Amino acid sequence: MDAEQLREYGHKMVDFIADYYKNIDNFPVLSQVQPGYLRKLLPETAPAHSETLQEVLEDVQTKILPGVTHWQSPDYFAYFPSNSSVAGFLGEMLSAGINMVGFSWITSPAATELEMIVLDWLAKALKLPDEFLSTGQGGGVIQGTASEAVLVVLLAARDKVLRRVGKDAIGKLVVYCSDQTHSALQKACQIGGIHPENFRMLKAVSCRDYALSPDALSEAVSHDLATGLIPFFFCATIGTTSSTAVDPLLALGKITKSNSMWFHVDAAYAGSACICPEFRHYIDGVEEADSFNMNAHKWFLTNFDCSALWVKDRSALIQSLSTNPEYLKNKASQGNLVVDYKDWQIPLGRRFRSLKLWMVLRLYGLEKLQAYIRNHIELARRFEELVAQDQRFEIVTPRKFSLVCFRLRPPQSNEDYANKLNHDLLDAVNSTGKLFISHTVLSNRYILRFAVGAPLTEERHILAAWKVFQDEAATLLSKC
Ligand code: PLP
Repeated sequence: MDAEQLREYGHKMVDFIADYYKNIDNFPVLSQVQPGYLRKLLPETAPAHSETLQEVLEDVQTKILPGVTHWQSPDYFAYFPSNSSVAGFLGEMLSAGINMVGFSWITSPAATELEMIVLDWLAKALKLPDEFLSTGQGGGVIQGTASEAVLVVLLAARDKVLRRVGKDAIGKLVVYCSDQTHSALQKACQIGGIHPENFRMLKAVSCRDYALSPDALSEAVSHDLATGLIPFFFCATIGTTSSTAVDPLLALGKITKSNSMWFHVDAAYAGSACICPEFRHYIDGVEEADSFNMNAHKWFLTNFDCSALWVKDRSALIQSLSTNPEYLKNKASQGNLVVDYKDWQIPLGRRFRSLKLWMVLRLYGLEKLQAYIRNHIELARRFEELVAQDQRFEIVTPRKFSLVCFRLRPPQSNEDYANKLNHDLLDAVNSTGKLFISHTVLSNRYILRFAVGAPLTEERHILAAWKVFQDEAATLLSKC
């Protein structure tokens, strides 16, 4: 590492990235390249001799950026947002600069301790119960993704129940969620050895805005108990991926508690909104949960990846995930004086991810972060209003956060035709390159998802996006 070369190249790279952001509106939001495009543009083998940064950056500009879908574009409205910010970026830069591997406390005490402190700060901002704080039996940990978060708590819960009922009972363990739960849970069950027939996706119905009914959980658990199975894990969602439905935590949590089940809350996207007092009620009942997760890398200005997971009983995680090989032994760990985050996650190595979250919390402060969330929710409300005013469209589920689920009404009431029409509208809109949205299917209906949440989005982008929908819809309807 040559510090002076880093200074020179680093300045150039920051200039390059700053220009990228300055001109981000000029790119088609959804990359328009065809599969395999890049192999045709790059050499078959790595260069034998060093090249210049200038040469590489030219290739980035001409060969890489055309194949990038611009998640930071103000016209990005697909899936859920994945925020970047100056604070988050600087935190990433610092983390890359220090480049330590903080698996145990001793490998960089500041990395472990800052992570504990920052997750306590965030837990307090969300008004999570004190049991989730690191000062008691619980604590927070940064995982890479919500998928890893649900996997580690599922493993902890599985091993906890197996310690009680015996390892041979693994085939009897049952996991519950709604049919709106993210597929990350299904993957966790596959990895965790849960029998596929014991993965219960309970139906969430449109009359409850796709939230899970406590009765559905209660009936399923009772039925399984009666047939000798062992209900052990339930995952509720605050802000489902398809339509941001909110499962009723309190009532569901009471059922899990009376059946000694682990209760996980996935608030990957909507958790960020709960730092605002007026949205905090969505996680009322979280005191019943054993674990809670939100992705700071979605809608909290923290560059990917940063998924905050809190547990009430850290020993359950540690009992499942710890190993203690000779080559990692040290006085602090042996003396039980410290947290070793290697025992709270799947990999050994881990980055200094708390730096970027710390930078975000400090450089913005909670008030600005609240204002940031409120602004997106207001922009989504504005878009929803525009949709509602146009008779050709309909809002499909009531908006709770910054996602609007809507669709074009078909000229004749034929569901297959309506689905095709909306599919065609999505393709037409995304092919313009002017914006990018994604879709879902709810009750067999193809639905357009318009998720506001990119940091650069302003009202003018919402208005321009709506104009694209109107124009493309007019073209499609004229062909009907
Ligand atoms: N849970 C919910 C509610 C989500 O919306 C998503 C992704 O959008 C996930 C989990 C998975 O997130 P990750 O990519 O962090 O695993």
